[in-house]
Amino acid sequence: MSVMDIFETMEYGPAPESASPALAWIAGRQPFGLFINNQWVTPTSGQYIESINPATGKALAQVAAAGGADVDTAVAAARKAFVGWSGLAGHARARYLYAIARQIQKHARLLAVLESLDNGKSIRETRDLDIPLVARHFYYHAGWAQLMASELDGYQPLGVVGQIIPWNFPLLMLAWKIAPALAMGNTVVLKPARYTSLTALKFAEIMQEIGLPPGVVNIVTGEAAQVGEALVRHPDVNKIAFTGSTDVGRSIRRATAGSGKKLSLELGGKSPFIVFDDADLDSVVEGVVDAIWFNQGQVCCAGSRLLIQENIEQALIQKLRVRMEKLRMGDSLDKAIDIGAIVSPTQLQEIQRLVAQGVAEGAQLWQPSWACPAEGSFYPPTLFTNVSSANSIAQVEIFGPVLVAMTFRTPEEAVALANNTRYGLAASVWSDNINLALDVAPKIKAGSVWINCTNMFDASSGFGGYRESGFGREGGKEGLYEYVRPTWKTATSHSTSAVIHIAENHVQQLSQESVSDNGNVSGLPAIDRTAKLFIGGKQVRPDSGYSRDIYDEHGKVMGQVGEGNRKDIRNAVEAAHAARGWSAGTAHNRAQILYYMAENLASREDEFVHRLMKQTNCTQTDAFAEVQATLSRLFSYAAWADKFEGVIHRPPMRGVVLAMHEPMGVIGVICPDVRPLLGFVSLVAPAIAMGNTIVVVPSQQAPLSATDCYQVFETSDLSAGVVNIVTGERDGLSRVLAEHNDVDALWYFGSVEGSKQIELASAGNMKRTWVSNGQERDWFNMVQGEGKEFLREATQVKNIWVPYGE
Ligand code: NDP
Repeated sequence: MSVMDIFETMEYGPAPESASPALAWIAGRQPFGLFINNQWVTPTSGQYIESINPATGKALAQVAAAGGADVDTAVAAARKAFVGWSGLAGHARARYLYAIARQIQKHARLLAVLESLDNGKSIRETRDLDIPLVARHFYYHAGWAQLMASELDGYQPLGVVGQIIPWNFPLLMLAWKIAPALAMGNTVVLKPARYTSLTALKFAEIMQEIGLPPGVVNIVTGEAAQVGEALVRHPDVNKIAFTGSTDVGRSIRRATAGSGKKLSLELGGKSPFIVFDDADLDSVVEGVVDAIWFNQGQVCCAGSRLLIQENIEQALIQKLRVRMEKLRMGDSLDKAIDIGAIVSPTQLQEIQRLVAQGVAEGAQLWQPSWACPAEGSFYPPTLFTNVSSANSIAQVEIFGPVLVAMTFRTPEEAVALANNTRYGLAASVWSDNINLALDVAPKIKAGSVWINCTNMFDASSGFGGYRESGFGREGGKEGLYEYVRPTWKTATSHSTSAVIHIAENHVQQLSQESVSDNGNVSGLPAIDRTAKLFIGGKQVRPDSGYSRDIYDEHGKVMGQVGEGNRKDIRNAVEAAHAARGWSAGTAHNRAQILYYMAENLASREDEFVHRLMKQTNCTQTDAFAEVQATLSRLFSYAAWADKFEGVIHRPPMRGVVLAMHEPMGVIGVICPDVRPLLGFVSLVAPAIAMGNTIVVVPSQQAPLSATDCYQVFETSDLSAGVVNIVTGERDGLSRVLAEHNDVDALWYFGSVEGSKQIELASAGNMKRTWVSNGQERDWFNMVQGEGKEFLREATQVKNIWVPYGE
């Protein structure tokens, strides 16, 4: 037998993920109470509902069944918390959201296993899709909390938001709802679906862990009639956000009509999956697997209507059947399965009923030869052919692993068939002809259209429907407007007064103990420590071998830094070029690293405060404020990393132009002398957030705050060579950078004469320069010290033209 034969015939063995930690977690806490005001409380009814494992049919946990009185208590707690929460600076809310994201990642495995046990979906999906996307939502919205004051100027939070979520993506739907609500300053009462409350309860525990103020998030479990309806009708709730069936959505629309409550509805779908005859059929088959058998087809945007160009129907159906034979079904914790269990026996019966109706109406049913597991709620992958668009299975949302196939002849017919539905949530278009795909996509009435892919989600892109699929968007900037309303009063100030206020409040907590410059409290002579240069991720001695003394305000030597020269600059530029992979990484990754930098800098806050006091002779309050403003700035650019995006232009042609922001490349950054930490970070952070690599010359007078950052960079996963630091005589070093042909842009914050020299010297390779002409900035001020001016200098626009139409 050849290796090839073995490879072809080899069977998968079971690869179970252990349920033990999740079961122990449940056992240690049940029966689960309600989470109100950051406390676990017994439901007034004294009643509990049972959560079952759909893959085994066995009981998993007892979950509190709340009543109207509990909803009142939760809404009152959220109302009380609203004043404080909405009054916090955006930066403070960003810190909480960031902390949530971090905790989600730390508890990722437990959350994935809990979700699979409670819902029946495969562990591969919960581990690789649900939970990572949950964390991504909180990171992304931490960014919007940070930017709310500037980017949503003129808007204010709504108040208390009631959120009702379904069982198909329990924690992900929670994240889609809670993250934007909190980011915009609202407080929340959330009702999970009765079948799947467990990850929401673990999420509640995370709220306690991170110290979220009491009442900001309240989780009220129970039945629709007792909890959902009470929330919808509650007079002190300002908005309802709902995901679920169109029928319930419609009843909520009626119940809230005229109440002044804001409403967003994400409802059902019957999404078309359109395949043209030039599509790559092997990719199409995998696309179909993802479109309709992912999460057992219990997906609102599932591609449940397969529309095939007539001449390839036989070939595609044949390939699909072969693939369906190979799909594996079983226990949700088995890593080798493709399809898990249906969430409940009721949902299973509904699928069976609709399938029987399809057969009765004359459609032809095909299912693979293998049998479903005997225990639990399972339904096999199912393919219907010979379907007419009038058949109920072509019109009704089945919400199970059931695909109906129909054919079309021309693109016009495909569009007509695709739009022949009361829904409009999503669509996929498959063709190797990009002109055709881009022509068809805008003609389909759906909130999301995927070309040669399907079921793509991201926090940055709004998701929501047309027609009976609901209204409102979740995700993206557009999703934020669901959680705010216009302020109609004087614009808020953009100053960092909140930071200074924090500084005044906290300064007493700082140690009053006098610490020497090297952090030495022993009274013994300090160990000599000269800050080296930072090149290619390493601390290196300067080429000259010399160091320069750094003096405090009293003229006393407080430390030394390396005396950089032309050769050091050349090495640093080389290292920056070698690190260009930085721009190819994801913006999300860059955001994460900026957050880590803030985290690591914050953990050494006192040391940075002390250093600033010594270098600039400022007060402790002032130094503390500078450190806090620096942390806020890192958060700002972590926020901007994945939000300073291009735009789409509509020129007078059939097509679009995608205007993309690209990094400049290698930027030389010459820092101001003032605000040695804040000024340094205010320039470094936007440059690297946009994907540039940099060579920085820190403040000449006070470089030690910058050299203290080496360890922050080293512990924050920043790739070697992204930030290179050369200390020394500023104007001499900046001239070398200006003359260097491999430096793409130069930022200079120094004298009038220095600015002139930079512009002259950089004419060699016509590099883009940004000079201060001797004008100082107030680095604390959010208009002068951060924002789009910096981001524009860090990027250049590339226009990509995409014509379409046949
Ligand atoms: P529902 O719409 O009934 O439930 C969704 C959520 O709403 C649950 O938390 C539910 O609570 C709650 N709810 C139900 N009725 C009310 C009400 N009158 N007022 C307030 N809240 C209410 O969906 P189902 O779970 O019953 O599923 C039925 C069908 O809905 C599916 O077959 C599918 O077609 C569609 N659906 C669509 C989803 C989507 O993502 N768009 C998600 C889930 C279902 P409780 O769990 O306690 O009943």
